[in-house]
Amino acid sequence: MALCKRRGFIYQASEIYGGINGFWDYGPLGSQLKKNLREAWWQDMILRPCWGRSGPNGAPVRCVPVETRIVQHPKVWEASGHIAGFNDPMVDCRETKGRYRYDHVMVYVPESGDPGDKPVFAYVGDQPSEARQKKKAEKTFGAGAIKSVPLASFPQPWGRIIAPDAEKPGSLTEPRQFNLMFKTYIGALATEDDVAYLRPETAQGIFVQFKNVVDTTRVKVPFGIGNVGTSFRNEVTPRNFTFRSREFEQAELEFFCHPDESVAWYKFWRDFRMEWWKSIGLAGDNLILREHEKDELSHYSQGTSDVEYRFPFTAPGFGELEGIAHRGNYDLTQHQKVSGAKLEYNDTERGELLPNGQRRGERYLPHCIEPAAGLDRGVLALICEAYTKDESRPSPELLKLHPRLAPIKAAVFPLVAKDGMPEVAETLHTELTERFWRQGAIEMDEKQSIGKRYARMDEAGTPFCFTIDGDTLTGQTVTVRDRDSGQQQRVGLDKVGDFLAAKLGL
Ligand code: ATP
Repeated sequence: MALCKRRGFIYQASEIYGGINGFWDYGPLGSQLKKNLREAWWQDMILRPCWGRSGPNGAPVRCVPVETRIVQHPKVWEASGHIAGFNDPMVDCRETKGRYRYDHVMVYVPESGDPGDKPVFAYVGDQPSEARQKKKAEKTFGAGAIKSVPLASFPQPWGRIIAPDAEKPGSLTEPRQFNLMFKTYIGALATEDDVAYLRPETAQGIFVQFKNVVDTTRVKVPFGIGNVGTSFRNEVTPRNFTFRSREFEQAELEFFCHPDESVAWYKFWRDFRMEWWKSIGLAGDNLILREHEKDELSHYSQGTSDVEYRFPFTAPGFGELEGIAHRGNYDLTQHQKVSGAKLEYNDTERGELLPNGQRRGERYLPHCIEPAAGLDRGVLALICEAYTKDESRPSPELLKLHPRLAPIKAAVFPLVAKDGMPEVAETLHTELTERFWRQGAIEMDEKQSIGKRYARMDEAGTPFCFTIDGDTLTGQTVTVRDRDSGQQQRVGLDKVGDFLAAKLGL
């Protein structure tokens, strides 16, 4: 965090006013790093999906982008389940970490309603906790001497309640509101009729525009729609730097396919997304793909996995970077139901063959595979992975960022600010900037000692430094210093551009 602040990667939002909990800004280096991550996603997911590979259907993967708004019709969130799911007061179990809808929880109490100093037993109807807790309550108060009442009508104190799957009294927290959606008002009057929400995810914008995309472009199932943008969640406890923020950026894809092919596509995306994170520098044991157990899955899902990274604050555990979910046709079904719009896809490559040789077309709601990544968590993981302390160096901290992601691609230094070196350096700097500005910044620096300048670039994660020295003037070669090894080699002054292009994979 200190390096992020010192070098202008990440700052606390509104810092001069004391900061604002759950919000972070990106400085000059951080905003470029994040842009590079966003672009890497866009290139590898939209422009050349999966690096040009074919999908399980044997054809190249096809994806198109959309850019949808933060504020949508409130019914969007009703259909998606965010209003219902996020609105209800919940109670948490301190022992098992289970969370229950407050209005779903019942308690077994004695006939009189007053347990005295004995515990009462909470359960959720139709779940194993019901029979188990009943048995314990009968043991405590006598068989046939108990009744059940909603938790909401049980008077205090809470310290007497044993949570449905717990052992000890006091394991259940008081109900808390968990509506994670930020509320706002549209228009000048700002009455309750004008309530709208800031989106808690970018995915719903895709489902809502699915029909328009199908009707106005030539996409055919299977295909994906990607959406990148800011989402908001009024997280109860924002923490761990940018990991759990209240405003963050998501890069989400919904890949629409025929139900019969959905499991194959799920596996395809799950594996590709894992490979992708590896390709930009998150290799090794710190990255895992965790497949959810059957009982963790939503009722409509045939598979979900998370790409997880071992952040310093989660270690030895892992934190989610991206979730890849088989969502079935749940979302399109919901939006079709709530909006009344017909969202079925007419698949003219399937369906009954008519005597005239044409197909009738099969109508169905496509199934969806959703790789949903977080760019802020991505940036944080990249920084954590790149952060290295090499005590053998005078300035031990460096960021070994992948060249594709590094905010500054290279720096040019005159060894000393005299003898014509600054002029040669300036010419090379201009030449490299003209050639590589699309990839990122090329820096020029002539202040301080050469060692300090190298150290500054090491901390910024700049992979290569080119130094103009005495030999450049006589032999037309420059010193190239490699960030990770600290080693130096010489290349021809006129070969520097090609050297850098090769290193950047261009
Ligand atoms: P978590 O369980 O950590 O709250 P989630 O499962 O709710 O995350 P999703 O709804 O699957 O997250 O969102 C997809 C991605 O969006 C996550 O993998 C993560 O990278 C990012 N994300 C979600 N919530 C936050 C947040 N509060 N701050 C930063 N990134 C987030």
